[in-house]
Amino acid sequence: MSRIAYVNGRYCPHRAASVHVEDRGFQFADGVYEVIGVRHGRLVDGTGHFDRLDRSLDALSIPRPMGRGALLAVIGETVRRNGVVDGIVYFQATRGVARRDHPFPKAPTPSFVVTSRRGIGPAPAALAEGVAVHAVPDKRWGRCDIKSVGLLPNVIAKQAAREAGAYEAWLVGEGDLVTEGGSTNAWIVDRDGRLRTHPATNAILNGITRQRVIALARAAGLSVEERPFTLAEAFGAREAFLTSTTSYVLPIVRINDRPIGNGHPGETASRLHDVYARFAAEQGEALS
Ligand code: PMP
Repeated sequence: MSRIAYVNGRYCPHRAASVHVEDRGFQFADGVYEVIGVRHGRLVDGTGHFDRLDRSLDALSIPRPMGRGALLAVIGETVRRNGVVDGIVYFQATRGVARRDHPFPKAPTPSFVVTSRRGIGPAPAALAEGVAVHAVPDKRWGRCDIKSVGLLPNVIAKQAAREAGAYEAWLVGEGDLVTEGGSTNAWIVDRDGRLRTHPATNAILNGITRQRVIALARAAGLSVEERPFTLAEAFGAREAFLTSTTSYVLPIVRINDRPIGNGHPGETASRLHDVYARFAAEQGEALS
């Protein structure tokens, strides 16, 4: 089945899908996006992602490209046309096309694109063996809570991680505090067995998976603190792991070549992966 993309009101072959050269997303990274997991043809935490899209758009005064019913219909149609049952759907809204000038155009028509592809969840080997992360300075702006397409610092951090042979970059901000990963949220299980992850401030993207894992962990009787941790605390942690839509819950076994815990996936992270994977498989929201 050949891939199909939705671009500003049309479904077209993926290879021919394009936006205008003066789209402000292209010229200024003046846009936002979301990625939602699809499991058994249903959206994993769809409402959470749609709410966050609205929040990102409002924060940047970008008009909503369409109402939520229409959004769901377009996303559902793109997922169906691509034959995706288990995978992801990506969508992006920008401030639209305008003569190049930094301030907002007067009456912008937002651009909206949707793509979808197969594959979700961590690779079995990554889950079984755990992954490494590579710590780099967090050089991003002050509104990391907005899911902006301006991802250059994340791109550079993740490239550095790849070159270091690591799966993900951990971004380290002021006071040696780990904010989050390049495209994932960062967690540890501390010496007292408490789960710790950075609070949902402007310094991180409040991951939908992060929020879901907090709720699932608490429901399972685990103690979760939304409190930042330092890189030094992470080195001394019992366990570390990351969360995201595409990676679910993935154990971290090395940070900068230093083993975490016993150097094998932690019990808590592995358990949370299973709990979250079950949630994703069983609690998806109907597409339309
Ligand atoms: N932080 C950043 C910087 C991200 O890009 C992502 C993935 N979009 C996440 C965290 C995880 O968010 P989510 O659980 O909503 O996928």
